[in-house]
Order: sequence, then structure tokens, then C-alpha cells
Amino acid sequence: VPVLRNIGLLVAGPSAERRGALREVPRAAVAFEGGVVRWAGPEASLPARHAADEAWDAGGRLVVPGLVDCHTHVVFGGWRTAELEQKLQGRGYLEIARAGGGIAATVAMTRELSDDALAARAAGFLREMASLGVTTVEAKSGYGLEPDEELRLLRLQRRLGREVPLRVVSTLLAHVVPAAWRERRAEYVERFAGELVPAAARAALADACDVYVDEGAFTPEEARRILRAALDAGLPVKVHAEQLGPGGGAALAAELGALSADHLEHLTAEGVERLARAGCVAVTLPLAALFLGAPPAPARALLDAGVPVAVATDFNTGSAPSSHLPLAMLLACTRQRMTPAEALIGATSAASRALGLEGRAGTLDPGASADLAVIDDDSVAGWLLHFRPNACVLTVAAGRPIWRAGAEPRP
Ligand SMILES: [Zn+2]
Repeated sequence: VPVLRNIGLLVAGPSAERRGALREVPRAAVAFEGGVVRWAGPEASLPARHAADEAWDAGGRLVVPGLVDCHTHVVFGGWRTAELEQKLQGRGYLEIARAGGGIAATVAMTRELSDDALAARAAGFLREMASLGVTTVEAKSGYGLEPDEELRLLRLQRRLGREVPLRVVSTLLAHVVPAAWRERRAEYVERFAGELVPAAARAALADACDVYVDEGAFTPEEARRILRAALDAGLPVKVHAEQLGPGGGAALAAELGALSADHLEHLTAEGVERLARAGCVAVTLPLAALFLGAPPAPARALLDAGVPVAVATDFNTGSAPSSHLPLAMLLACTRQRMTPAEALIGATSAASRALGLEGRAGTLDPGASADLAVIDDDSVAGWLLHFRPNACVLTVAAGRPIWRAGAEPRP
């Protein structure tokens, strides 16, 4: 039964009283047992039953809930390195995709790798994320496209959940219609909705279902068919919405009571209203906007309308080739006018809500999973503002240390 003592500033979660504010406790301690938080508060009030527990020393540093990266595409083969220069020459995302680059290129490189090779790569990325303080990662399929290949990726996502010490949430993603099915779109959508979704749900390989609604991907009507099948199979739903243009994805997410609408770079004022009324989490992906040179999602307008805004990396080989969640949080502040507190809420409790894990992850309330990060700074603002390769010195997941600065080679 360890107790983490000598915490300079504990951020336990969002304030219950004031939206966008954090519950902060100076000179604090956290006690956990069986992987679950039992008590968190001022060290001077540590209950007597924990006084003799094994003590870990936070060195007077900042402690935050383990970060939750609620939107990644972490299982993939290859890197689309050549596309950087194509983009610099002015070729757009859709132009590169139509020439066989983009998602199709990653699908080909993913198919070439064995299960073991794919799992080893993804596990390496997940360990890098853990070193930054991340303890929960959502992984989306979508680089298989053919139903059997999608099931293979879902099985790999479950395998990663067993083999790495982070929590891995597995999402089935309808990404694009593969080239071989281009003349039979309707048939592909039917296969996806009628066979793949129920098969994934039956085998408990997916925790949610997501559809990419955009030009070059799926129409809202096609997405509705797939997502309704997911809801019928007991899977909550999510939508990649309004990334390349206003495409109706946010309205669909609101209509279906989705856990989240993600991307939202081209969200309209009406879309903001719809998400607010539906109580849908908006997931902003500042790294994707950065790498695509696109305007980021209107996070400030969403927050002001009362929409919970989560911040995630969108880590993938094409549009967001970085898994650095604290960098995404910094960008959410500097480019989207989120406060440091809102950015941290976005990468913890709002992100856990986007995954249906509210109260279990992304908070240090008693009863939540004992997931936390010890940050070498004295405030959330200081941590994000002083952007370094890594300020995290200790990551704890389910009560166990999964990364310690200096304890293993830095990624
Ligand atoms: Zn994505």
C-alpha cells in the first residue's frame, strides 16, 4: 500500500464548483491500494491508517492524474516521410491521397508487417507516451480497411492492452473505402455495418466504433448506417468530423449521442450549438492542425458554449506524426486560447469522458485508477509553458511505476 508523499502541488481533477478550474492541493499526499486511489489530500491530514504505509517521495513536485490520449492511430507500419516534401511543394492532403499516398500508403505498409512486428512498433510508441505521463491511450484500427485486416488490428490492440502497462482502449474505425471497393461503395458500407461491426462486438475486440466523415472518406449517410449498427451491437460511437471541410459529422455525432466528435477544424457556429445541446465531448487535435497547416478547432467557442473539450495527439504517420501529448496541450493554449487548466482537463477528465471512462481514469478522486504523473515543475502553467523534451519524472499506472526518469534509456 504505497503513499506518494511530499507532493508540492497536487492537481486531483477539475473543480466541481468552477468550470475550467482545477482542484489543487498544496503539500499533498496520495494513498493507493490494489491499483485504486484510496485517499488524496493535504499531507498533514493523511489518515492514520496510511501513516506506516510504504512511502514514495515526489520531491516537492507537481502531481497530475495520468494523462489520457483519447485519439490515436498508434498501430501502423512504415512512415510517410516522402509526403513532407510533397506537402512543401504545395500538394494537398486529398491530392496526395488520390495519387496513392496518404492512408492507402500506410495500409500497404501495415499489411506487410507481421503481428509481432506491428505489436513491437506500437508498444515502443506506447512506452514513449508513458514516459511523458500518459497512462491511457485510445488506439483506432483503420489501416486494414479489408474486414479481416481490421479484425487483425483490433486483436493487436487488445494484445497491446495485455502486453504494455498502459490502459489501451480499442476503437474500430471506418477510415476510407479501399480502392478495390471503390465501384462498390454501398456494398463495402453494408459489409462493414452488417458483418464487421457485429463480429468485432461479439468477440469483444472493440470498445467503440468511429467513422471518418469527410470528403474522400464517408458521407454522413454511410456513417449513420455504420454507427447505428454499432449502437445496435452495444458499442458507443465517435465521429472524425469537419476536418478538411464542413461535412455534417458534428451534426451526426450530436444526433446519435456520440461519446465524442473529433477534429472539428471546420466546425460552424451551428455545429458548436449542436454539440453543446447533445452533451457530446469535442476532441481537439492541435498536432494534426499544426502538421497540416490548418486552422485548429474553435476550442474557445466550444468551451464558452459549455462543451467539454478534450485534447489528444491524433498520433499517426501522416497528418500528426508525434505522440507528444504535452506539446498538443501547449498548442491548445497558444493557438486555441485554452487555459493551462483547461488543457490539463482536456487531457485527463474530458478525455476519459470521450472514452466512456469518466470517474475511472483522468482523476485522482478516491475510487479512480491510481494513474498519475510526477512532473518536474511547480504548476501546470509552468510545465506546459517551459516546453522541454520531457518534464515527467515518474509515471504510475494502476498503482505501479511504469516509467522513471533515468531508470531506462530516454526514447
Ligand atoms: Zn484520427
